[in-house]
Amino acid sequence: MSRGGGDGQQLRVDWPQCRARGLCAELLPELVVLDEWGYPVVLGPVRPEHTDLAREAVAACPRRALRLVRR
Ligand code: SF4
Repeated sequence: MSRGGGDGQQLRVDWPQCRARGLCAELLPELVVLDEWGYPVVLGPVRPEHTDLAREAVAACPRRALRLVRR
């Protein structure tokens, strides 16, 4: 296990697929903020307490533009 990185997972955005609707930032404000154009900026690795919400955000993305990957 990596230090401070939870279980070593990270959210990744598929930029061409993303439509900047911001649902992921609504579901996971601790980890995702929106830039000035409404595109998500991932703030860091997924901490253990946010794993379930991160999975939810991946499942909820209407464009299938969000993935949970191993770092
Ligand atoms: S929910 Fe999906 S389409 Fe919407 S901003 Fe997040 S990554 Fe982009």
